[in-house]
Amino acid sequence: MPVIEVNDLRKRYGGTDAVRDVSFAVEAGEIFGILGPNGAGKTTTVECVAALRVPDGGEIRVLGRHPRDPALRALVGVQLQESGLQDKLTVGEALALYAGCYREPTDWRALAGELGLADRLRVRYANLSGGQKQRLSIALALVGNPRVAILDELTTGLDPHARRDAWGLVRSIRDWGVTVVLVTHLMEEAERLCDRVAVLDRGEVVALGTPAALAAGHDSLDDAFISLTTRSGEE
Ligand code: ADP
Repeated sequence: MPVIEVNDLRKRYGGTDAVRDVSFAVEAGEIFGILGPNGAGKTTTVECVAALRVPDGGEIRVLGRHPRDPALRALVGVQLQESGLQDKLTVGEALALYAGCYREPTDWRALAGELGLADRLRVRYANLSGGQKQRLSIALALVGNPRVAILDELTTGLDPHARRDAWGLVRSIRDWGVTVVLVTHLMEEAERLCDRVAVLDRGEVVALGTPAALAAGHDSLDDAFISLTTRSGEE
């Protein structure tokens, strides 16, 4: 059984279709990429999967359940672009606070260690580097011991070194047995990390497959992406 099934998902904002007829399935243990230019509907799609938005049409199943099933709260970890954390909160306080929201949280101190935050526990959010903020947001998504992690634009704003570190982390998360859905607009990220990718453009899936299969017949995945989407090289 797929971990996530999305069939004919549709979501409108006002008169505009942000997502229309989007379908894909994510298998257990894979890193599944949702790739597309800005405005393609990536965030809307994962927000519907994470029950943060109500779709206007279609069907979603996560671990066989309706996205709003309360049982999923502990099974799905979500890292969104904006953490919404208060600047004055320390890393340790944030982790303890989030851990307290779950019945069977992971050991948050051990998790902080795994994510290279062990010596940052007393540091306030406002004083963390960009990479540390990202690692904290991953930790907060994982503290409930989820089986699925949804990571949205995880590496946006990170320098190349911190980005590579973040990629290593995503691989570790998968190696811990967590299925990962990764939203990205970066070709290199999709190519290096993802087992399979759904390419979204203007609210539709325009391609689905392994990065290698998508790149076949083109000089690179980047070339394939440009020919598949309306992107005109603005990224
Ligand atoms: P992506 O994540 O691929 O950048 P989004 O899902 O954020 O795309 O957005 C898809 C489309 O829906 C865009 O045209 C965006 O402007 C629009 N949109 C997103 N959120 C809202 C909202 N809350 N209200 C109105 N329009 C929105």
